[in-house]
Amino acid sequence: MTTTTAESSCVSAVEASVCPRCARKGREYFWYLHLYEFDVDRAREFTSDGREPVEVEEESVRLSMVGCEMDDFHLDHVNPSIPGIIAHVFYTTEQGEQIHGHVLIDGNHRAGRCLRDGLPYFAYILTEEESRAILLLSPGMPSKRKPKPQAEAVAS
Ligand SMILES: [Zn+2]
Repeated sequence: MTTTTAESSCVSAVEASVCPRCARKGREYFWYLHLYEFDVDRAREFTSDGREPVEVEEESVRLSMVGCEMDDFHLDHVNPSIPGIIAHVFYTTEQGEQIHGHVLIDGNHRAGRCLRDGLPYFAYILTEEESRAILLLSPGMPSKRKPKPQAEAVAS
């Protein structure tokens, strides 16, 4: 006769108390497509000035989550009523064309939760100026450009 332990019957459910995402402490940064790095804490400072969050269209929520690291088990631990933060991103193609986009830099799991549960999702929008201010790294960032390219020896 075999006994079934509670542990083995719900292996996929992760308690918030043991969730690695919930356990993350310290300053938060958001990496986008391995090209951009945003200072999320600074973004939160900007958006705590009393501005109103806007409702994000479902399609935009879906698109903004492309390329994000998502842990499904963490979705139940987040509060979907806390707005996310959307920043502007700028990218110059090899042809010199400037592309302007938006990226959800905070609240990706809350967005995922809203999509899953069919809830409206809200986010604060940073201004272009704020978006540049919180950008720590981006392709073509003038200050990071070296006068002479070194031999590429990047280990990742
Ligand atoms: Zn969690």
